[in-house]
Amino acid sequence: MVGRGLDPAVIVKGDFMFICPICKSKLNIQGKAYICENNHSFDIAKQGYVNLLPVNKKHSDNPGDSKEMVLSRRAFLEGGYYDCFTDKLCEIINSLFPDTQKITIADCGCGEGYYDGKLESLNCNYDLFGFDISKEAVRYAAGKYKKCNYAVGSCFDMPLSDEAFDLALNIFAPMVEGEMLRILKKDGYMIYAVPGKSHLMGLKKVLYENTYENEEKHTEYDGFQFVDRVSVKSEITVNGEMGVNLFRMTPYYFKTELGAEDKIRKNDGFRTEIHFDFLIYKKW
Ligand SMILES: [Zn+2]
Repeated sequence: MVGRGLDPAVIVKGDFMFICPICKSKLNIQGKAYICENNHSFDIAKQGYVNLLPVNKKHSDNPGDSKEMVLSRRAFLEGGYYDCFTDKLCEIINSLFPDTQKITIADCGCGEGYYDGKLESLNCNYDLFGFDISKEAVRYAAGKYKKCNYAVGSCFDMPLSDEAFDLALNIFAPMVEGEMLRILKKDGYMIYAVPGKSHLMGLKKVLYENTYENEEKHTEYDGFQFVDRVSVKSEITVNGEMGVNLFRMTPYYFKTELGAEDKIRKNDGFRTEIHFDFLIYKKW
């Protein structure tokens, strides 16, 4: 990442869209740290990310996904089961930004960066700034996607500059509309990916006696114009340990009683619907 190995006395001012979590002013790079005009300094980790999560905002020592969850998630996604979603996401972004001009993208709740890696096939040039509350996830993303900039931070108090982004992504992360509105430029787009009605029904049938469809989300947000809903549905067969990997990246992992992973292992393969809705909004 930018800045490593530079003379520590030299401040590199650039289009770094991260802000100081203490005073909210813009961060620039000095040596191996991000520093603000009030001299608050944040070290750049060797993988290239910066931790901008204030200690008082942490509700536990290691908030967000654990290392085990990050690795499970990565193993599942690299199996290609969600390729129909990443393909559609790129198609949507290409249609919103048909020119090759450079745009700025925020990935809010970026996890271990899987979707960011897939954006490399976009038609447009871009600078990407991603953050997630899980340090383990951000460490993984920063180690793998050197072209992107990563920070540990919260969706509720985003470590990103005001009105700095052409596009903000939220893929299954907490939606904090005020923060989304703050970081987007006027006429910027927000893509919010939510689970569709039938998402993971087959997995739920393995876990629970009674299963229900997900509620369909359709929310209007102040300051945003709703543009479109793009639904993507498919079916996948998940075998063996891959079923456990999938389970660990769902909310059911936190809600289901012990022994659920054994249930999945015993079931030895299941078929499930997968269904994302991409909700597209434009900032007025
Ligand atoms: Zn500061």
